[in-house]
Amino acid sequence: HHEGPSDFIREMIRSDVAAGKHGGKVVTRFPPEPNGFLHIGHAKAICIDFGVAKEFGGRCHLRMDDTNPTTEDVSYVEAIQRDVKWLGFDWGEHMYYASDYFERFYELAEKLIRLERAYVCDLTEDDFSQNYRGTITEAGKESPYRKRTIEENLDLLRRMRKGEFKDGEKVLRARIDMASPNMKLRDPPLIRIKHAHHYRTNDDWCLYPLYDYAHCLEDSFEGVTHSLCTLEFVSARELYDWVIKATEVPHVPKQTEFARLNLTYTVMSKRRLLQLVEGKYVGGWDDPRMPTIAGLRRRGYTPEAIREFCARIGVAKNISTVDVALLEHTLREDLDARSPRVMAVLKPLKVIVESFAENETEELDAPYWPAGTEPAAGAKTSSRKLPFTREIYIERDDFAEEPPKGWHRLAPGQKVRLRHAYIVTCTGVEKDDKGEIVAVRVTHDAGTRGGVAPAGKRIEGTIHWVSAKHANDLEVRVYDRLFVSENPGESEEWLKDLNPHSLSVVHAKAEPSLASAREGERFQFERLGFFFADSDSKAGAPVFNRTVALKDGWAK
Ligand code: ATP
Ligand code: MG
Ligand code: MG
Repeated sequence: HHEGPSDFIREMIRSDVAAGKHGGKVVTRFPPEPNGFLHIGHAKAICIDFGVAKEFGGRCHLRMDDTNPTTEDVSYVEAIQRDVKWLGFDWGEHMYYASDYFERFYELAEKLIRLERAYVCDLTEDDFSQNYRGTITEAGKESPYRKRTIEENLDLLRRMRKGEFKDGEKVLRARIDMASPNMKLRDPPLIRIKHAHHYRTNDDWCLYPLYDYAHCLEDSFEGVTHSLCTLEFVSARELYDWVIKATEVPHVPKQTEFARLNLTYTVMSKRRLLQLVEGKYVGGWDDPRMPTIAGLRRRGYTPEAIREFCARIGVAKNISTVDVALLEHTLREDLDARSPRVMAVLKPLKVIVESFAENETEELDAPYWPAGTEPAAGAKTSSRKLPFTREIYIERDDFAEEPPKGWHRLAPGQKVRLRHAYIVTCTGVEKDDKGEIVAVRVTHDAGTRGGVAPAGKRIEGTIHWVSAKHANDLEVRVYDRLFVSENPGESEEWLKDLNPHSLSVVHAKAEPSLASAREGERFQFERLGFFFADSDSKAGAPVFNRTVALKDGWAK
């Protein structure tokens, strides 16, 4: 019996299980190439691969698809493992490396030659594509090397392995059908020569398999029943099945494709993300502006929010671009119960409370949670003390000398509530020689302690503040979208769409309780957004990232 979400993949697996295929077992895999960090698109695939396996009582393998020696690195393997774990998934004993199968790929290549299903070809890939493969409307023509004998092919393949030939000088091709309507079946290359150091097999090999030859065999070797991948592999499925059949491997896996995730205002290919890192457009793979799992984590995303987002977008066959506002909306919902409310002022303006004694400090009780909020397990549950003094800071934007109509914040002659403190009335401003406002003067109503309005009086506006004497300087990194256009990836000029203002570093004034915040702590800074203490934080000097602003742009 299967509980949980329903979609075409789960429907298919349910009927395979019901029909007793593979003895009713479900084995999936998540197969990243360790050539970069995982991004939010991979999170979708991870949620599907691991999620489906779990729901059907099966298992999901984590497999490094490490067949390209020049781009891969052990640091990426480690980052991938860290990120999959952080997302909340567990491969248990089932960690695999495609590079462990190099010998088996080779043996099956000799078998294909013996079965006359593959041959060694001397044409370069360019020559073959331009002059032999043909087009959609026109059949291709056979390579002049297609008729080589089994003995000749075996001898050449063995010499290829020994390193007698240069990169690209020879290639092993499948002998399939040069007139197939599926271009992928027109004698595709299976194994190529590449003299390069591999991060795991070192210099043992100068032959490396191509994706279409390797991937299906990896699935077969591991007993994968359902090989789930993205739609760009639809045309490769026939070749996937051909290789399984032609090599006569005993286990037959099945490939099924779903739509990849695209998100607005970002790029999502590892090649481009690598360009952003190498070109120093961002601080690294884990820069909080990156759509990588590591970047999202450092920004303050939770694994729960990412999993919930993946559940909401679902699994479908039509390609679409998801509005990043949905991701942010899901995040806000999750952060709400995890983030105690505190006060910090990002653009400070001094306020003098004329009616409050000069050297006095009053301790006000300030609950961390608004009434009605059920804090998440493990969250701060109590309240804290807030010092109130004659000089405080408010947000510069919360004061207007000539307020527009309907202004509910501070303005000359107007009243406003200071959160958890008092109702104050503005009595005047102080300006410097240039006419810039340097301070605002107010009087407080001592009868409104805690911000309670006098009977019969309504005070519309409430603003946040901090005591000037007790305020801590806080570095706050306010992030905006990394790109200014909705679909930067559409153009080759995508780098021109980078947002020059995607990061602003702000020196904020914060309430004293924040001085002890430690890396990884989350808060809502009242009225400003959700914030996360960054790994650059030092004891007594936390650095905060704005995870997301409070205003929700998602239209439900
Ligand atoms: P990229 O194009 O970003 O380099 P990739 O497909 O080359 O991605 P892999 O490391 O091969 O990266 O991906 C591992 C798995 O994740 C594959 O099964 C792939 O289909 C899936 N995947 C990659 N990008 C997305 C995405 N945007 N949405 C859903 N699944 C994805
Ligand atoms: Mg890939
Ligand atoms: Mg790729």
